[in-house]
This record gives sequence, C-alpha cells and structure tokens, in this order.
Amino acid sequence: MSTSTFTKKSMGADGVEPAVTPPPAAEVPTTFAKKPKLASKSRKREIPEGLWTKCPKCTTMVLDKELDENLKVCPHCQHHFQVGARERIHSLVETCTFEEMDADMTSVDVLSFTGTASYTDKLEEYQKTTTLKDAVITGVCKLGPHRCGLGVMDFGFLGGSMGSVVGEKLTRLIERSTTGGLPLVIISASGGARMYEGMFSLMQMAKTCGALAYHAKARLPFISVLTHPTTAGVMASFASVGDLIIAEPGAMIGFAGPRVIKDTTQAELPPGFQTAEFLLDHGLIDTIVSRKEMKPQLISYLDFLTSGKRATASAA
Ligand SMILES: [Zn+2]
Repeated sequence: MSTSTFTKKSMGADGVEPAVTPPPAAEVPTTFAKKPKLASKSRKREIPEGLWTKCPKCTTMVLDKELDENLKVCPHCQHHFQVGARERIHSLVETCTFEEMDADMTSVDVLSFTGTASYTDKLEEYQKTTTLKDAVITGVCKLGPHRCGLGVMDFGFLGGSMGSVVGEKLTRLIERSTTGGLPLVIISASGGARMYEGMFSLMQMAKTCGALAYHAKARLPFISVLTHPTTAGVMASFASVGDLIIAEPGAMIGFAGPRVIKDTTQAELPPGFQTAEFLLDHGLIDTIVSRKEMKPQLISYLDFLTSGKRATASAA
C-alpha cells in the first residue's frame, strides 16, 4: 500500500506543472461547467408547484398571488377561472354585512346510494376538502346600499350539484327575501341535479321555482348570475328564470352536454355553442359582465330594479 502511494507521489514530479497550470484550468472549466447547470437548476427551483397556475386559454404562467388579487381572472387574456363561494361572497358584499343562513344543513343518504364510494363518504370527503357543508352558501347581505338575499353556489363541492340541501337552502333564502321584501341575487355554478339523491334532487327544481314565483308576485327583483359552468337541472330551473340574467365571459351554459345534443339531433352544432357570448346573441341571457365589474354592475341593476319601490315608499 505504502509503496504504491510512494510511487504515485514520485510521479508527482509532474506536480510542478499542475502548480502552474491548474489555476486557469481549475477556474475556467469549473465556472463554465458548473454555472450553466446551476442556472438551469435554479430556474426550475424558482417555479415551485402551487405558486403558479397555467392559464388554459393563453397558456401564460400566472402567479397565484396575482391571480387572487385579480379575482381569479387571467391578467393577460381575461380568462375567468372558477371561484369558490366564500371568495365570491367576499368580493361582492360590504364588509361584515353577510348573515349566513342554515350554515349547518347537511344532506342525508336517503337512497342508501351504493357505488364506488358511499354517498355519506363522498359528502364527508368534500366537506373536509372544501370546508363547506354543501354546494351553496346563502344569506342576507348588503350589496352597496341594497339589503338583499344572496345565494352563491360552489362548483368545488360535488360539481356544484343540486341535492335536497342546495334546493332547501335556496328555497328558504327566496322565502326570506319574499317576506322581508328583499331583492335576490343567486350566483350559479353547477353540473345539475345530484344523482346521489335521485328524485329528491329533481324535486328541488320545482320547489325553487315555486318559491321564486311568490317572490315575483311580491314584485321583487331576482337577478340570476350564471358562471362557468351552469348546466342541466340548475339551468333548467331557478337559474334561467331571473328578471335579469347575467353571465360571466366565456361561461359554459346549457342543459345537456354538446355531445349528447349532437348524438340526439344528428346535427352539426354551430361554433361557440353553449357559451355565454352565443347565448347573448340568441337572446337567452341579457348581458355579460366581467367579474371585476360584477359588484358595481349588480349595484346599478339593483338601483334600477328597486327604484319604483323606493319612489312609492317615499311618496307614501
Ligand atoms: Zn390567460
């Protein structure tokens, strides 16, 4: 062992040369060899997951913080990302004016639904991940100077599906608005009726519309706001019977999905079918309002729709 090390050292007579050559050799290659690697690695590390979101429309990477500050609207192409019910309420109502109703109402597995997972397990899972009890939050709030009933659906909870709880909470909200003489705003985002509750889900369509008929009879305004996506049982009931129907840009709105319609009608669907813009052109909705303009626009619509009531009140 020692001999071998000795021979190596004696070979180190070359060691004189390295003493001269290494400095440039050591400096130049290491700086060139290592730095580009470090640079490429550090660039990757600069984009940790969960801090950026890729916009599905313009494919730009947008900083999550920037997206949150912009009400989840892409600052480059104005694509409207989905927003949770709580964030939506926060962006609309006057601070500390939202009085939530029926906050603890939860669904029951009436049909003993069996599938890959039981309905009760599914509900528990979504209640944990979304911290919501069901797919809608309802309450009375102030929107600018107007006290009004507000219901906001959350697509993140089982696709915003309408089961007995969503239907019951909305019906109670509508009835409270009727008895309190309040205008009503419902913001929808839903895949339709909740299949886990079968017929009980479908009954909510008639129930919510029945309550809305009494609200209309009391000559109170109802503004329906459709966000991406509002489809099926929700679109076929309360969401499409507003005195004023507003949609967010690019929102998908319809009853059955485009593939089902295409298969049934055996007809080619026109471009832009079931988008908010297409439906505005064809008269199903009244206007398209971007999310950043939603609050001032809702207030101005409420100003207009309640002006008659205020005038009679002041005359009396
Ligand atoms: Zn974009």
